[in-house]
Amino acid sequence: MTKNVPQLFGSKVFNDAVMKEYLPKDTYKALKKTIDEGTHLQLDVANVVAHSMKEWAIEQGATHFTHWFQPMTGVTAEKHDSFITPEPGGKVIMSFSGKELVKGEPDASSFPSGGLRATFEARGYTAWDPTSYAFIKDDTLCIPTAFCSYSGEALDKKTPLLRSMQALDKSAVRVLKLFGNENVNRVITTVGPEQEYFLVDSEVYNERPDLIYTGRTLFGAKPPKGQELEDHYFGTIKPRVSAYMKELDEELWKLGILAKTKHNEVAPAQHELAPVFSTTNIATDHNQLTMELMKTVAQRHGMTCLLHEKPFAGVNGSGKHNNWSISTDTGVNLLEPGKTPSQNAQFLLFLTAVIKAVDDYQELLRVSVASAGNDHRLGANEAPPAIISMFLGDELEGIVESIVNGTDYHDKAKQLMSIGATVLPHIPQDTTDRNRTSPFAFTGNKFEFRSLGSSASISGPNIVLNTIVAEVLDIFAEELEKASDFDSALNELVRRELTAHQRIIFNGNGYSDEWVAEAKKRGLANLKSSVDALPAFISDESIEVFTKHGVFTKTEIMSRYDIMLENYHKVINIEALTMISMVKKDIMAAACEYEYSLAETINAKAATGLKLRNKVEEAKLVKAAELVEMLSERLEKLETAVEKATTMSDDYELAKFHREVIFEDMNSLREVVDELEVLVPSDVWPFPTYGEILYSVK
Ligand code: ADP
Ligand code: MG
Repeated sequence: MTKNVPQLFGSKVFNDAVMKEYLPKDTYKALKKTIDEGTHLQLDVANVVAHSMKEWAIEQGATHFTHWFQPMTGVTAEKHDSFITPEPGGKVIMSFSGKELVKGEPDASSFPSGGLRATFEARGYTAWDPTSYAFIKDDTLCIPTAFCSYSGEALDKKTPLLRSMQALDKSAVRVLKLFGNENVNRVITTVGPEQEYFLVDSEVYNERPDLIYTGRTLFGAKPPKGQELEDHYFGTIKPRVSAYMKELDEELWKLGILAKTKHNEVAPAQHELAPVFSTTNIATDHNQLTMELMKTVAQRHGMTCLLHEKPFAGVNGSGKHNNWSISTDTGVNLLEPGKTPSQNAQFLLFLTAVIKAVDDYQELLRVSVASAGNDHRLGANEAPPAIISMFLGDELEGIVESIVNGTDYHDKAKQLMSIGATVLPHIPQDTTDRNRTSPFAFTGNKFEFRSLGSSASISGPNIVLNTIVAEVLDIFAEELEKASDFDSALNELVRRELTAHQRIIFNGNGYSDEWVAEAKKRGLANLKSSVDALPAFISDESIEVFTKHGVFTKTEIMSRYDIMLENYHKVINIEALTMISMVKKDIMAAACEYEYSLAETINAKAATGLKLRNKVEEAKLVKAAELVEMLSERLEKLETAVEKATTMSDDYELAKFHREVIFEDMNSLREVVDELEVLVPSDVWPFPTYGEILYSVK
């Protein structure tokens, strides 16, 4: 059957075309104004919108509606209400009011708030975000909303993102006016997130309590075949995976999500999906939906989708590449080198702003990707290092160098780099993307922030990016607005700032030890774990930049810091408890059974009276006994540490203790288990091995 993709696309979305069709003309106009300009929507207009939305939703088979929001858990939340309203005679009608559309009051007390909502004031409310279209999922009309406390604090990941987009809009428009762009009214940031994931057979998955409870394997010896042959990357897609990908694409298209590219990734069972980019707010909503659908669609195919950053130790982990750019409402990509000297001057100023922002706020960017799961990747020679640096590519680096040195740029035209008077050479996109070890790479007309973990919301990193670039653009605007000679002021600013921020630019191998030493010499931060990184979030400069641009209040910053710390130690705690349970219940028993069978063999041989040799069995038994003893000791050590943690209450102290003690104890317990796994016969070993999991999807 051929599929009519254009017809399928957005069929479950209350998008602009549907609005035009279903809304009276003046209602459509009013709503459009709200969407485009953020004007307040009157309740009578909201009532009309709600009615039409409901009519459309019912035609699509919907029976319920929900405010769909993004609490600080990092996943989405929804509470479904049906449209039914009782009528006399025991009947019901389907209704949905403007009030219900605009505002909701979920019981918010169980979401993390980091102390923002004292228990006596447990109510929060959700407020419709008309800039993100409503959609239907599982017969429910989902209304994208922001989630706030009654005292006005953001309790979610969407509100500060919208605020950061506003901040960047304001600063960027201010800068653009200086270049004479009078017709630009709005500047937005765009994002295309590439999403990596693993697919495993659900039968195998269900036999691994660690995967079920923690999303990653806590034990597992290396399989004989891993990714050494590099035959999986871009390899032929297996039929079962292909069927899954097709259905996933269709489900995403129905929701108006621009699923574009799909392929196998480096590790066995690892894959990637990339959409066409969209506005950051929409891209964030869509990425949340994509992750959710990846999981639900996998279930229908008897598979489980793993979004954890590091499901298998020693095997490539999963990340998310956040392709980011800045665009005007007139459709100009501000990170695209232009064709005329003045466009290029503008491009160079925006480029300089991003370079300065990344250098000045490298620690904040590092915090924005910090999580217990991502700690396994960053700096582990597969993902970018924990040190933030930027890659510009040969062409752009050459240009930057010539600006800094005031020398000729040796392109074909051999022109002196006087900004605003020179046409930049064309920068081919395929030559800018070679350095895969760089955390922050220029890729021709956008930057690719590569340090994100696969399971995280992309909201955090984009909040930081938008805010820090807004801050720098403001500083630049301030200086340039005062200048009597714009061109020379611009030249002087760009040269000065590029010179000042040379240290953040690095085109070499980010995995090498030399880089770690070199970065240290340059004074770049190397925040290896979340525990090292998180305090930067509450530093003076962080509070200053977020509050100045109205992105977070100080209270919101402190609460988010608490939530991140709490999440960090809770995640490791759950892992430790799972590990303890698996060792106690099953692994210890399997190891003892192995010992017993060896001892029995030795006894049985002796009983024959033939004086048979026992060299092999005895050596094996000695080794097994030794490992069982170590297993028992290390288990006890971990249990004691977990017990000790229960006596602590400070979140930072807990996070530090979980990183420095519990996490290390887990690693050393794991070593013994992995050694045992190789010795114990497979029919005795209680859990599927790495090989069985990674090659479970045939
Ligand atoms: P690669 O794997 O080489 O990094 P992909 O084509 O898989 O490249 O991903 C590139 C991503 O960047 C896509 O999601 C694409 O839509 C996105 N992208 C392209 N242009 C922009 C832009 N101006 N702003 C944001 N994202 C962009
Ligand atoms: Mg990429």
